[in-house]
Amino acid sequence: MFKALFLQKDADGNFKAGIENLDESQLPEAGDVLVKISHSTLNYKDGLAICNKSPVVRTWPMVAGIDGAGVVIGSNNQAFQEGDEVILNGFGVGETHWGCLAEKAKLKGEWLIHKPAGLTAEQCMAIGTAGYTAMLCVLALEKGGVTPEKGEILVTGASGGVGTVAISLLSKLGYTVVAASGKPEQTEFLKSLGASAVIDRAELAEKGKPLQKERWAGVVDSVGSFTLANACAQTQYGGTVAACGLAQGMDLPSSVAPFILRGVTLRGVDSVMAPLHVRKEAWARLATDLDLNKLKTLSKVITLEEAIEGASQIMAGTHTGRMVVKI
Ligand code: NDP
Repeated sequence: MFKALFLQKDADGNFKAGIENLDESQLPEAGDVLVKISHSTLNYKDGLAICNKSPVVRTWPMVAGIDGAGVVIGSNNQAFQEGDEVILNGFGVGETHWGCLAEKAKLKGEWLIHKPAGLTAEQCMAIGTAGYTAMLCVLALEKGGVTPEKGEILVTGASGGVGTVAISLLSKLGYTVVAASGKPEQTEFLKSLGASAVIDRAELAEKGKPLQKERWAGVVDSVGSFTLANACAQTQYGGTVAACGLAQGMDLPSSVAPFILRGVTLRGVDSVMAPLHVRKEAWARLATDLDLNKLKTLSKVITLEEAIEGASQIMAGTHTGRMVVKI
């Protein structure tokens, strides 16, 4: 038997999330690597799934948890042997395939990467999908030619998982970072992570002009909607905006003006189906470019039993940074 955060829906659509003891024989046949999970984490998507807020889960019942770190305890995949330390991010795990908020997970070897040297399993999950997505956004800015001397970088959703890791990474890489947050009480915390200034997210949250005063050399946006539209409208000539999230909304009420008159590039960032070579590049950079002391200050460790409450905090927007779930 193994313990898991189990999500169920009955024939009438009644939803239930709870910690259950499950039998190993119930694990998905599609997996070829059995992993003893030591740590998982809570991302925005986990919050949606565990609180049944949007159709993240597409197969019922489901074990929650889109990220996991642990040790291989059985393998039919040549790339992985018993004892290997591995991590998993995304690939539909916790959505269509039983996930990692559990003591055991049966996963496909093609989804796994070996744990990066220099990071512990706990640190990998403190980073999690949110932090790995922040790194993908930084890589998108670099590929767009955004260098520190080009000017300020705007990070929206600043106190969240993507935002806090993005600020930490960018500041260590020498960028000047401006954080947009709705939590004035987190100003000093965001500055301690490396933000040079913090602006009120309300400044970006309403409909604005198609072209505004040029300010940002680059943007990491996890918010979408008007915030993303205004961020594009304020981006300098030739700048790059990396868009990865929808905390404000899925819409993009923008115009083509920033793109056709200022040559601004909007780069979409997806972590879920990103190919392995992209993941490996991102994780290798995380192992070298993230200040692990800052990672410690932006993350906290909770138990599997506390994960349901943690998910509610994510949905209420009351948490900051990252939550690691020690299994
Ligand atoms: P968090 O919940 O940790 O952080 C989101 C932050 O957004 C909040 O802390 C808050 O920051 C801000 N926010 C919340 N509501 C609003 C609002 N109505 N308007 C403006 N800002 C708001 O989530 P994550 O950082 O983990 O994820 C952020 C987004 O990125 C989510 O939409 C998630 O789905 C997406 N994502 C996408 C991925 C991909 O592969 N493309 C991977 C990972 C995440 P503050 O209070 O400081 O303003």
